[in-house]
Amino acid sequence: MIEPNNPELKSWIDVAKGSDFPIQNLPFGMIRPQNGDPRPATRIGDTVIDLSVLADFGYFDHLEIDDLSVFYQPVLNPLMALGKPMWSGIRKSLSELFRLNNADLQQDEEARNLALIPINQVIMEMPVAVGDYTDFYSSIEHATNVGVMFRDPANALFPNWKHLPVGYHGRSSSIVVSGTNIHRPKGQTMINGASSPVFGPSKLVDFELEMAFITGKESKLGESISIEQTEDYIFGMVLFNDLSARDIQKWEYVPLGPFLAKSFGSVISPWIVTMEALQPFRVGGPKQDPPVLPYLKSEGKDNYDIQLEVSLTPDNGAETTLCRSNYKYLYWSVKQQLAHQTVNGCNIRIGDMYGSGTISGPAPDSYGSMLELSWQGTKPIPLNEGGDRKFIQDHDTITMRGHCQNDKVRIGFGECVTKILPAN
Ligand code: CA
Repeated sequence: MIEPNNPELKSWIDVAKGSDFPIQNLPFGMIRPQNGDPRPATRIGDTVIDLSVLADFGYFDHLEIDDLSVFYQPVLNPLMALGKPMWSGIRKSLSELFRLNNADLQQDEEARNLALIPINQVIMEMPVAVGDYTDFYSSIEHATNVGVMFRDPANALFPNWKHLPVGYHGRSSSIVVSGTNIHRPKGQTMINGASSPVFGPSKLVDFELEMAFITGKESKLGESISIEQTEDYIFGMVLFNDLSARDIQKWEYVPLGPFLAKSFGSVISPWIVTMEALQPFRVGGPKQDPPVLPYLKSEGKDNYDIQLEVSLTPDNGAETTLCRSNYKYLYWSVKQQLAHQTVNGCNIRIGDMYGSGTISGPAPDSYGSMLELSWQGTKPIPLNEGGDRKFIQDHDTITMRGHCQNDKVRIGFGECVTKILPAN
């Protein structure tokens, strides 16, 4: 067992029952305190811990990090560049410092008072500078539903789908952190039966329930990352709301795929949960039949049991849970996605983000988009406060949550929240 994952560990910082952030989590994020600059942090319960203060007071000296400035940067990219052994080393140091029997920081009043901040006194910033963004399409249930709706129920999946993790290159500049609100996009749409397109606000704004992994190591142009090596490159994961304008998408996507229907905003949860913290929740993925080519072949527990849910809250209204899904349904694993991404020699960089694709499960209440939940608007989704939705309306707030749970510990991602504002 990875020692900081020991479920018996307890922290001297209060952790409420059911919290996503016990001492076994120790995610990485960027906080901005009042009157301060952004700096790296971790979180236990509802307390954030300013890593720059711990560095100031020498709590990372034993790690012999060449350049301690990584703890004072406005993004986590330099910290990730230290490499996987140091990701583990920092996490282990934090685990030791905050466990119940360790008095070092508890007795160091000055450092403790500066380092520990209630979560409600900081603003969460984008944790990484995102270089490139790839969006995969790895849920067989989602790809099948979309194929049934838009093409041919008898041939819902394209012939390539079970042979490679289908994906496209998305836009990184519009990936924003939870709490950022997004304006309804404007664009071209083609109304059924019309002979020419019209321009205006999208009428079919949707969420896509996804998770994204983030790479923390570079590869060289011309070199591929073998599936066995992929785990050295993947730093952690976040919740990912890949907002989509279905009417714009339908008109523009042929033949090169999604473009402006996807690039008006994608929202991530602020805390990157490390792959190390997710280790206890690894599970086998769906059986892949037909067998995949050797460069994608990987036996073992490459998937993750992460419970996911999405809710919609109208302006000043009551929250309605729209769906509950699970990351484990994905057909293609993160290892396969990264091996495929680089098999042609494409280099990857630190801070690159890789969306899973919409994560739909087998049951209709586990579909990861309103397109599927309302089946193209033919089945309105009832809201708890009355009324219904086919797609997202202005001033609706979409909240995604995700966590892993076994009989001893809960590791969560917190929330990914965004409100859709009227078109500009
Ligand atoms: Ca997507």
